[in-house]
Amino acid sequence: MGRKQFLAASTSIVLLVLSLTNCKTKSDSDEENLLLLAALSSSTKICANSNTSFTGTSVVNGTATLDTNTDCITGMTSSMSSDLPAWIRNNFKCAVGSVSGSNYIFRSQNVPNTKSFYFGSTSPMYESLAAGKKSAGNNQIQSQCLIYTIPSTPTVNAGTKVGTQSGYVSVGITVNGLAIFNNAAAAPDTLATEAQTFDRYNGHPQSSGVYHHHSQPLNITNDSAALVGILLDGYPVYGLKCDQATASTADDAEPGTGTPALDAYHGHTANTILFPGGIYHYHYAYDATATINTLIGSSFNGNPGTASN
Ligand SMILES: [Zn+2]
Ligand SMILES: [Zn+2]
Repeated sequence: MGRKQFLAASTSIVLLVLSLTNCKTKSDSDEENLLLLAALSSSTKICANSNTSFTGTSVVNGTATLDTNTDCITGMTSSMSSDLPAWIRNNFKCAVGSVSGSNYIFRSQNVPNTKSFYFGSTSPMYESLAAGKKSAGNNQIQSQCLIYTIPSTPTVNAGTKVGTQSGYVSVGITVNGLAIFNNAAAAPDTLATEAQTFDRYNGHPQSSGVYHHHSQPLNITNDSAALVGILLDGYPVYGLKCDQATASTADDAEPGTGTPALDAYHGHTANTILFPGGIYHYHYAYDATATINTLIGSSFNGNPGTASN
């Protein structure tokens, strides 16, 4: 397009973003990037545009209930294809997982399988915020169509590390199909301030309804060695502790006790139950930028794949 049209288009996008931004009280810088991407695409996310990307019926908060068979919201597809490795097949749900060439593909409607204030008070999945918490503006959970393309053979990035604050719609997916966000908050805030809006499971939606975790998902792990999910570079992310490759939880310990200490990216290489031969992996850990514990720091150690919505 010509310069004039470009300027006109840019202006309308900026105005749209500004008007949407006004709806919220606080914003993470990653969330603002996501907002821009959301403004450029359709606001209706049904994920049914082809057989291969079908992830179930669009979730309506007013009628959302939990399917006791899948432990996901009724109507959502929860399937992991048989060619996925066991550590994914046996642990991930509430999304559609498959293998495509040298990548894992996850498609997710990104609706939490736990009650949340952010379903809205008319939803069967609603619960009030805990004492001392405050609402993240008028933000409510909305059905999304997140598509992750994640390398199945992760590799350490030997060059300049890729920042996690580069406009990603999500930097990873949890074992229950939810977006992982980075350690960012809009200056001068830190995530310690943002954390005041987390629901009972440490999640909240941004202004286009993408529910996400910056910090440990409390329905998956509460300072344990549980697998939390996979980040965009293909490395798994765990809770606060490392399982030391034993089924016993008595010897679970924070990295640095029986295992190497964490590097600047919240990661280390150690044996785990799921990877008895050892693998580089991340841990939920204290982050100096966020000033709270987060699932990822400011950069990926590996070469990240992509996420779209
Ligand atoms: Zn957030
Ligand atoms: Zn570990």
